[in-house]
Amino acid sequence: MPVCRDCTFYKPMDDSVGDCFGIEVPGDADVSNCPANAYQPKDG
Ligand code: SF4
Repeated sequence: MPVCRDCTFYKPMDDSVGDCFGIEVPGDADVSNCPANAYQPKDG
């Protein structure tokens, strides 16, 4: 399963968390939990 770290909208803030549309999300959060169902893979 991909995680937030793999998502186009994830902007890393440090090793474990990142910014997603102004909200802090864990890099290892499963994208099936994405609130907006907005996951887009970084590559491909
Ligand atoms: S859009 Fe969803 S999957 Fe992508 S970083 Fe934000 S919460 Fe994670």
